Amino acid sequence: MSERSYDFLMPSVNFFGPGVISKIGDRAKMLGMKKPVIVTEKFLKELKNGPVEQTIASLKQAGIDYVIYQGVEPNPKVHNIEEVKQLYLKSGADSIITVGGGSSHDTGKGAGIILTNGDDITKLAGIETLTKPLPPLIAVNTTAGTGSELTRHAVITNEETHLKFVVVSWRNIPLVSFNDPTLMLDVPKSVTAATGMDAFVQAIEPYVSVDHNPITDSQCIEAIKLIESSLREAVANGHNLAARTKMVEAEMLAGMAFNNANLGYVHAMAHQLGGQYDAPHGVCCALLLPYVEEYNLIACPDRFAELAKFMGENTAGLSTRDAAMLSIKAMKQMAADVGIPKTIKEIGAKPADFELMAKNALKDGNAFSNPRKGNQADIVK
Ligand code: NAD
Repeated sequence: MSERSYDFLMPSVNFFGPGVISKIGDRAKMLGMKKPVIVTEKFLKELKNGPVEQTIASLKQAGIDYVIYQGVEPNPKVHNIEEVKQLYLKSGADSIITVGGGSSHDTGKGAGIILTNGDDITKLAGIETLTKPLPPLIAVNTTAGTGSELTRHAVITNEETHLKFVVVSWRNIPLVSFNDPTLMLDVPKSVTAATGMDAFVQAIEPYVSVDHNPITDSQCIEAIKLIESSLREAVANGHNLAARTKMVEAEMLAGMAFNNANLGYVHAMAHQLGGQYDAPHGVCCALLLPYVEEYNLIACPDRFAELAKFMGENTAGLSTRDAAMLSIKAMKQMAADVGIPKTIKEIGAKPADFELMAKNALKDGNAFSNPRKGNQADIVK
């Protein structure tokens, strides 16, 4: 039971499972799309029989024209979204299809934002700042993953200040999402690990968030169980379709959970590392997770004791604190098993930057739902 009222957001239609990508042409037609901009990366565009080729094949069958933007970068930058906007206007496009991981979806959302809500996206950072709808947007997801294909968040990096900022609005939610695990079979090990750990964090942070509710709780619990039973297998053998399918289910559940219950200091701090050092988002999250949650533990030890059980730990006969500590141990073990770096030094972090990053982390929208309220010194530590 939740004592507070809440709204619950997700795309209205979500295609899931092996082979669903073949339905994208028909769905685009139903939405009245005549010429979408496909927003993706060069690597994915050139992949033989990859996600972009399969998207295009289905669009062609439905008689839909398209143009392609292939310049998406990891931790997408303001210039990426401006380039998509220029292409959209120059080509007479009428809609957007993002194909890729979180970076592609956020680039497409960002472009949609500046097409209809004003040129300077940095001024739109924050919650519910958008007043006009984005062009119709379908998200084809290829990492499991950020959940961005389902969420109301667009995470963009200001390349001048090295600050990652988030535009959070119900208007950002794609109309339709596609999650086809056959598109993910060739995701490299390190990316499978990093993106899978992002999904893991996105199931843990909403579970202990101050904004959690019974619906998001059930999504977090199932996501954690699925990740426990499939991430190691997906990293060990990317062509294990059963493991990939479970990871897609998990990332969707975690995406829905954090879309509605929000996140915490792991994401607030990971955004600083990602913006400052251009490091993979999932790696930043995974590195910070056990330290932030050990700090958070005193705020809600019961919830952490429950997490330990969902992670498969035997908590019988233990005190709440000891059971809760087992969840931290399990988080560290998962990161170690899938090969995440052990220190933030390995992604280039420098102590001289810590004070400013800590100050900015406390201003990140994700900080407000963290269960324990900290200060700059806590974050630096
Ligand atoms: P990504 O989109 O940057 O992709 C990571 C790598 O995976 C790239 O090198 C890409 O080429 C490769 N890749 C993707 N699909 C592949 C495939 N099918 N086969 C082979 N290789 C493939 O990574 P990501 O982790 O999905 O997204 C990270 C971004 O998303 C960050 O900027 C992060 O801040 C943001 N994010 C957004 C949200 C949101 O709700 N909007 C949530 C969490 C994170």
